[in-house]
Amino acid sequence: MIRQRLKAVRVLMTTLRLQSILVTELAHIRYFTGFSGSSGLCLITPTRQFFITDRRYESQAPQEVNGFNIIIAKQNLFPLLAERKLIPTKSRIGFESQHISVADMKSLKKLLPGRHFVPATSILENVTAIKDKKEIELIRSAAGISNKVFNKLLTLVRAGVRECDIAAEISYWHRKYGAECDAFDPIVASGERGALPHARASEKIIRSGEMVVIDFGCRYCGYNSDITRTLAVGNPSAEMKKAYQIVLDAQKKAIDAVRSGVTACSIDAIARKYIQKNGYGRYFIHSLGHGLGIHVHDPLRISAISTAVLQTGNVVTIEPGIYIPGCGGVRIEDDIVVCESGSDILTTSSKELIIV
Ligand code: ZN
Ligand code: ZN
Repeated sequence: MIRQRLKAVRVLMTTLRLQSILVTELAHIRYFTGFSGSSGLCLITPTRQFFITDRRYESQAPQEVNGFNIIIAKQNLFPLLAERKLIPTKSRIGFESQHISVADMKSLKKLLPGRHFVPATSILENVTAIKDKKEIELIRSAAGISNKVFNKLLTLVRAGVRECDIAAEISYWHRKYGAECDAFDPIVASGERGALPHARASEKIIRSGEMVVIDFGCRYCGYNSDITRTLAVGNPSAEMKKAYQIVLDAQKKAIDAVRSGVTACSIDAIARKYIQKNGYGRYFIHSLGHGLGIHVHDPLRISAISTAVLQTGNVVTIEPGIYIPGCGGVRIEDDIVVCESGSDILTTSSKELIIV
């Protein structure tokens, strides 16, 4: 598995004429090495691969990391690249331009003069975008934990409960059901607050007659889930019920169109046009979805301006929404695997309007 990932990176390294690539972002390091700690870097050359960490991980690293030369740094990690002469002068070294600080870049250039640093984030994005069977099963497990948490929420979301209490329950049950952690801070937005797509759970008390947008996800073995369901507490207004049905239909239509070979922007257009046709176009204010995997937001975007073509093994979210200021919001989000002739939905929680 790790051998295949390294092979894929090396093929792309040749297209950028790189003699090495320096991986500095933790999720990417874990993807290649299996290392789950919080300090490390890895260097991949055409024939060798090195993993560098510090002394806190002296015993953990050999347990988790296979197939890499492990180097334990006494202090900082970067100086070892120079001390061990791992990067020849005048060579081209790829680096993660999206995931390295200006200060780190400055010290790297000082430690390794005469090398050409080439932004190479796209290489890692391309390799990680296609998930193998094992990865898909891990995302399915993460989604399965969130599905179980949703069932729990059906018994917990009630009039009189604060949004932040629900958020706390989500975090608790994620862990209780085996997740490493939340994938992100749960969003619980009730009533008018539902019109804020990224509202944080507040101390607001949920009232009868309100819709509650709940967006949550967990991480399991390094892979994330990301699901949104909108519950009604008591009887919602006719307007919000109507909005719910439009979002649900738009979401189903978009999911039905997903398969290998279609453009991401065409999927966005299906949901967007349907919501527009029903008169709520100005209330759908974000893109339709995003890639999902070792990051909650993998770089693949399902938006009107995306140039991506969906491929077998991509895992994406489909999450249309309607946000009516002063009134409320509805969002429904699923995680799906792109397949040859359709898709596989990982978040299996019910999407019909549930009144609790
Ligand atoms: Zn979400
Ligand atoms: Zn999402």
